[in-house]
Amino acid sequence: MGMDDLIDAHCHWQDPRLESRCSEWWPQIEARGWRGMVNGTEPDDWERVAAWAEQTPLAKPSFGVHPWQVGRTRGDWRERLRSFLERFPGAGVGEIGIDKWIRDADLPRQKEIFRAQWNLAVELNRPITVHCLQAFGHLLEELRGLPRPSGGFLLHAYGGPVELMDQFLECGAHFSFSGYFLQDRKVAVQEVFRKLPEDRLLVETDAPHMLPPESCRDQSFSDPEAVECSLHHPANLSAVVRGLAGIRGWTPVHTALLTTQNACRLFGWEG
Ligand SMILES: [Zn+2]
Repeated sequence: MGMDDLIDAHCHWQDPRLESRCSEWWPQIEARGWRGMVNGTEPDDWERVAAWAEQTPLAKPSFGVHPWQVGRTRGDWRERLRSFLERFPGAGVGEIGIDKWIRDADLPRQKEIFRAQWNLAVELNRPITVHCLQAFGHLLEELRGLPRPSGGFLLHAYGGPVELMDQFLECGAHFSFSGYFLQDRKVAVQEVFRKLPEDRLLVETDAPHMLPPESCRDQSFSDPEAVECSLHHPANLSAVVRGLAGIRGWTPVHTALLTTQNACRLFGWEG
C-alpha cells in the first residue's frame, strides 16, 4: 500500500539506453514491485516491449508509432500493430500523437497515422496513450472527429495551456504528471496539475526521457562522465509522486494511492 504500490503511467523500459544499464535500475523497481506502462514508439521496438511483458507482470505493454517516428513506418505496420495487440489482450495503444515541435513535422502524415491507431484502439477496446507537443489545437480537432474510447485515454506529460484543460477533460483525457514539471519555470503547467480533477491524475517518469531537476530525483545513474548521465532513472517515480503531492497539498501516501487507483482503472490493471 501507499508508496509501496506505484504505477509509472508512461515509461520506455525497452529503450536501449535503459536496457543496457538494466542491472543499475531494474533490481530497484522489482524489489519495490512498482508497475510500469511500457510504451513502444515504432514497429522496430515492439518486440522489445513484448519481451518486457513476457518477462515480468510488473510491465504492461503498449504498442504504437510515436509522431517522431511516422517516417519509419513501412507497408504492413498496421497489420503488425494489430497482431501485437492480439498477442497481448491486456496491451494498450501508445505512444501515439501529434507534434509540431520537431523540425520538419509532417502534420498530415502524423494525423493519418494517429487516426489509424486511435481507431484500432477503439475497435479493440484498448487504453490509448497520447503525446502532444505544440499542437494542442490540432489534437482537439482530431479528437472531436474520432470515436470516444469507453475508458478515456492518457494525455501524457500535458504541457498545454490551462484554457484547453476542460476541453481535453470532456474528451476523456487523463493526465500523467512528469517530474520534469518540477522545474521552477514550469509554473503554468503546475497550475494545470493543481486544478485537474483528482480522478484524472496519474504519475509518470517517461524514463529515460524528461529528466527532473536534480533536487527532485531519488536516483541517478552512475558514471557522471557518460552522456547517459542525463537519463531519467525509473526509480525517480517516488520523487514524482512527492512533487505532485507538494503541488496538490496532499500527503505522498494519498497521492500514491490515488494515482495508482486511477492508473488501474484506466489501464485495466488489478488494484
Ligand atoms: Zn514517452
